[in-house]
Amino acid sequence: MDLEAVAEAVENSAEIISAACEGSSIEEPNVGMEFQSEEAAKNFYEEYARREGFVVRLDRCHRSEVDKQIISRRFSCNKQGFHVRVRNKTKPVHKPRASIREGCEAMMYVKVNTCGKWVVTKFVKEHSHLLNASALPYNSLIESKDRIIQQLAKELEHQDRLCQHYRRQLFSLLETVDEQTKCLSTKVELVVNTVKKLENEVQKPLI
Ligand SMILES: [Zn+2]
Repeated sequence: MDLEAVAEAVENSAEIISAACEGSSIEEPNVGMEFQSEEAAKNFYEEYARREGFVVRLDRCHRSEVDKQIISRRFSCNKQGFHVRVRNKTKPVHKPRASIREGCEAMMYVKVNTCGKWVVTKFVKEHSHLLNASALPYNSLIESKDRIIQQLAKELEHQDRLCQHYRRQLFSLLETVDEQTKCLSTKVELVVNTVKKLENEVQKPLI
């Protein structure tokens, strides 16, 4: 396989990966978005969180006064709020564990409407902390791989052009060598003939 074919193969695989990336992308939550159930809303927000690099915490809910069914739910980032230590006099005091909460306000709030659909009524996108790069989701990884593949393809193209340039130089050098060789062999032939002629003259009997 020559360099051009390699570059083409790399480019093709970059296209396939970016197509896969587009196919698996998930929308960002926005106010007015509807879901069939609380579970569907939760799954959606969890998928979004996985892509962004944070973890969802099932936060508070409200129930209907009539039938006690859940009518609204808040899904938060697990770094939401601040840890409050509750003193418990009956249990021995353990060394307090480091809290992961950082007062983050990122969340999605869903409410049941009159048609029974779960509608996003509030969405806070910004986090008060860095998102987890190691949990960085499939799409971001694909995007960075895609960039690397494109750089490699460019590099291959550049190397290929260099190769063609060197090939041309080599051919012209070979042509020059060929011409020189022909010229040299003509001269050698001339010298050989002259020497033969001289030998013949030397061997002629003196009159
Ligand atoms: Zn957060």
